[in-house]
Amino acid sequence: MTENPFIPKPAVIKAIKQQTHDTKTYTLAFVNEEDMKRFSFKPGQFNIVSVFGVGEAPFSITSDCEEREFFEHTIRRVGTLTGFLDGLKVGDIVGVRGPYGRGWPLEDAKGTDILIVAGGIGLAPLRPVIKHIARHRGDYGSLEILYGARTPGDMLFTDEFDEWRKISDTTLRLTVDAVPKGVEWPHRVGVVTTLFDELSTKPENAVAFVCGPEIMMRFVVRGLLERGFSKSSIYLSMERRMRCGLGMCGRCQIGPKYVCRDGPVFTYEEIAPLPDKIL
Ligand SMILES: Cc1cc2nc3c(=O)[nH]c(=O)nc-3n(C[C@H](O)[C@H](O)[C@H](O)COP(=O)(O)OP(=O)(O)OC[C@H]3O[C@@H](n4cnc5c(N)ncnc54)[C@H](O)[C@@H]3O)c2cc1C
Repeated sequence: MTENPFIPKPAVIKAIKQQTHDTKTYTLAFVNEEDMKRFSFKPGQFNIVSVFGVGEAPFSITSDCEEREFFEHTIRRVGTLTGFLDGLKVGDIVGVRGPYGRGWPLEDAKGTDILIVAGGIGLAPLRPVIKHIARHRGDYGSLEILYGARTPGDMLFTDEFDEWRKISDTTLRLTVDAVPKGVEWPHRVGVVTTLFDELSTKPENAVAFVCGPEIMMRFVVRGLLERGFSKSSIYLSMERRMRCGLGMCGRCQIGPKYVCRDGPVFTYEEIAPLPDKIL
């Protein structure tokens, strides 16, 4: 019998890690072992996670895609569903359907330098890219990561930064909008594009993977174009309100494109001519 793709599969929360005051990483495993065995995803894809009786929403899968025992989501508390998720404990059950969407083009990017530019929670869908490159280091050129957040306390995955710095030919540059009084911060202050004056990735044989608030992506794209990156070498992960996740309901449409099915990762070349976006 064909499976109904709209029916979520139960998944148990194995661990919860507080990342910032409003963001947690949830380690999940499908309750049914067969569901876990069948589940595989590519960096940049997302699941639709539900709290029974409350609702469901899309969340990027943020774990290593070669990890087959569990998967992770990093979720910021912003409203109703994420508020309920925030109240859950280890051992609680959520519903998960997916994976969905088109992720980052890691196959096509083999042999090129990779520039990652992330803002705030935008680092969540890029963490599997970093883990993938670390595992397959010889397949890619240099890796440069520019990460910005509102304050040092809003940065995700800080306990992994030293590990990332140890990946060969990798640079991690950090900036925050503001540093609260009394907090020591040895990195830059300013929006993420502030880091462009230190940029070492050359555009000739590179791709840029960008994710963050749309206004941030707008300025990042402009800066990259000015520095010689082509429209087709800039990849952006777009966020839209979504319902079905399968390209049927049209809730997440930008012009003719469905963010859930055709994206969430698009080249800037694909996005630039579309209406209804601030890029
Ligand atoms: C492909 C994709 C991947 C995502 N990955 C992540 C992730 O890894 N981690 C994460 O924390 N979030 C992620 N999101 C966003 C997440 O889906 C929303 O934050 C979630 O729907 C909020 O649900 P809620 O019921 O808690 O908020 P609601 O109660 O529905 O809304 C709370 C407030 O936030 C606003 N809002 C909520 N969602 C959005 C949105 N998508 N765009 C603009 N405004 C919004 C509402 O207008 C309202 O003001 C992703 C979204 C997409 C499309």
